[in-house]
Amino acid sequence: MKLTLKDFILYNSPCFSCGNNTQLEFFLIDRGGPTPLNVALKTNILGSHIEVIVKVTYKSSLSITIDPKHNSWVSNNATMLHQLLSQYGLYVTSDCKICGTYICSNAFTILWSKKLILPLDIEKEFVIIKTDKGTYYLSTYEKDITLLEFTKNKLNSPIFELKIPKLLICDLKDKDALIKKINTYMLFS
Ligand SMILES: [Zn+2]
Repeated sequence: MKLTLKDFILYNSPCFSCGNNTQLEFFLIDRGGPTPLNVALKTNILGSHIEVIVKVTYKSSLSITIDPKHNSWVSNNATMLHQLLSQYGLYVTSDCKICGTYICSNAFTILWSKKLILPLDIEKEFVIIKTDKGTYYLSTYEKDITLLEFTKNKLNSPIFELKIPKLLICDLKDKDALIKKINTYMLFS
């Protein structure tokens, strides 16, 4: 996929599962290890631009201000930003606080001389759909694999799970199409 930040925002807005507003959050994740700095970075909407505060020290703060339409950016200290992003990957997520569905981008690749962010891709998806019959899940964490799951609402009920080739929400018309797909797999399993 080749997404501008604006495309990424629209990709899961409103939420694929419950239709509520989703929240955009940015994270830094250490490139050298699996430990994410698990706090969303502070963001400010400046007109049509999004300012992300990537680091705060007691003297100053380091920010990147992105034009979501063109993936262009400016920073108050590009040298420091370059240093920081060689150690940490910058990611964006679209997070639904109501149902728990979230979408995560790949780590931003930045063209430093052109002040551009290369088109984004979807790296992770987690969709949760609660119905009267039970709860349906779609999780894409690995590169080429999606895990589909179903649990009944009663405790200790059986769980259905199946790994299939990568399936993203953009491959599905709507959440009913996903429910139907999982139901069909269950029927023939
Ligand atoms: Zn939702």
